Amino acid sequence: MSIDPETLQGLPKRIGVYIFHGQGSLPIYIGKSVDIRSRVLAHLRAENESEMMAQTQRVEVIETAGEIGALLLESQLIKQKNPLYNIRLRRIRNLCSLQLKNENGFLTPEVVTGKDLGLGQVEGLYGLFSSVHSAQNKLRELADPYRLCLGLLGLEKISARGCFGLQLKTCLGACARLESRSEHDARLLEALDALKVHAWPYAGPIDLVEQQGDWVQRHRIQNWRYVGTWCSKSTDYPVNVQKSFDLDTYKILVKPIMMGSLPFEFLPHS
Ligand SMILES: [Zn+2]
Repeated sequence: MSIDPETLQGLPKRIGVYIFHGQGSLPIYIGKSVDIRSRVLAHLRAENESEMMAQTQRVEVIETAGEIGALLLESQLIKQKNPLYNIRLRRIRNLCSLQLKNENGFLTPEVVTGKDLGLGQVEGLYGLFSSVHSAQNKLRELADPYRLCLGLLGLEKISARGCFGLQLKTCLGACARLESRSEHDARLLEALDALKVHAWPYAGPIDLVEQQGDWVQRHRIQNWRYVGTWCSKSTDYPVNVQKSFDLDTYKILVKPIMMGSLPFEFLPHS
């Protein structure tokens, strides 16, 4: 063990990000916890982390006023520093999503991709995927419990007798007019509902406010993009942290923002 007991005792039992440094200039691991000291102790006790802990010479701590701040900071730092012992976060260059095309009242899912998807800004997108293939796999996966027609979903050919799934009784038969297309499409919408990609619900940026006593941090968010954190303890002002839509940031923010579980303030937008 390379961390001395004194250092351990000095770690705060508070929320924030901790960074393990080894000999080199880059951190070897970055994590976040609501109780930094206990979490670091848990790393020391974990048998499968003994190699990492043996290399750790110094623990750097950045406390935050709340959990969102810790999650945003951790995610940013891991992407910037790419520490050896963090699971590699693959930068996804081209996110794909599913969009429902309405043709003559019939809904057909299409895989859409590319920079001008308007991710986080337009409604009617479902799921975020790293490839066309994984988007199609998700559709296949959903088709089964909802008894959807792979033919109508554009994943298989439909013959004169309907799709192959009809013979296997996995498809309820919208392809052979055994049920109406609208019944089929209603189940499709139901199946996709949990994957809905929320459009940014405000006209401009907001500040999510986290507070501990008189310590205040405001995380500025616009179109799901993390702009920066203003901190009452620091003279650093928000910088343009993220220039485009980021999947991890969206995942951190979507629940608290859609459920309104954190106090926030609207900002005048230009
Ligand atoms: Zn079918």
